[in-house]
Amino acid sequence: MNLDTYKHQGLRRKLLEELKTKGITDQAVLQAMMAVPRHLFFTKEFEHFAYEDKAFPIEAGQTISQPFTVAMQSQLLEVGQYHKVLEIGTGSGYQCAVLCGLSANVFSIEFHKVLHQTAAKMLKGFGLKPTLLCGDGNKGLPAEAPYDRIMLTCGAAEIPKSLMSQLSVGGIMVIPVGKNNEDLEMLKLIRVSETKFEQSTHGRFRFVPLLGGN
Ligand code: SAH
Repeated sequence: MNLDTYKHQGLRRKLLEELKTKGITDQAVLQAMMAVPRHLFFTKEFEHFAYEDKAFPIEAGQTISQPFTVAMQSQLLEVGQYHKVLEIGTGSGYQCAVLCGLSANVFSIEFHKVLHQTAAKMLKGFGLKPTLLCGDGNKGLPAEAPYDRIMLTCGAAEIPKSLMSQLSVGGIMVIPVGKNNEDLEMLKLIRVSETKFEQSTHGRFRFVPLLGGN
């Protein structure tokens, strides 16, 4: 049985306190993360790692992002109710669950079939209804574009042009960029007009690489 006990909730509350001391101030993000039992994304034997502020290995050589990274990316994304959000890199589905908790209309693409399937089962189990797809997120999802928000949870050598074109005017993209996956720069891109994007930087992070392309 999937249990979210008082003990888990207590550990989660403690983790969120830690994230606040690290600079997470967005109440909606903190609330959304409080509502998602991160330990249920772990196998039973490793669930005690779920409330440490660390990334953890999942299938296909990928990782469930560090809680601080999830919180920071979610905060930077400034998600509003009913925003159409595109996530590239469903992975475990944890970040996707947090985005759903922010009342967004979430579309999430995962490269690896095994992760796509596991995440789909997990999120359905929580009663969440994101649209999940399996494929190469470099191309985005033109059929549903434009998006109010786009988030990449894997490191890109450069910002994929097709994703820029699928961002609505006034929209925000949060993407870790760089050549070295151990040391990527978190970029926040705001599309201020059809042709103009404003960019700001928000610290250095480590991510698994964006796969596919071309
Ligand atoms: N958001 C996830 C993080 C998973 S790690 C979570 O909360 O668990 C990043 C994920 O991006 C990996 O699962 C990886 O397979 C996926 N990925 C890498 N390149 C991709 C691409 N081109 N399209 C879609 N997903 C991709």
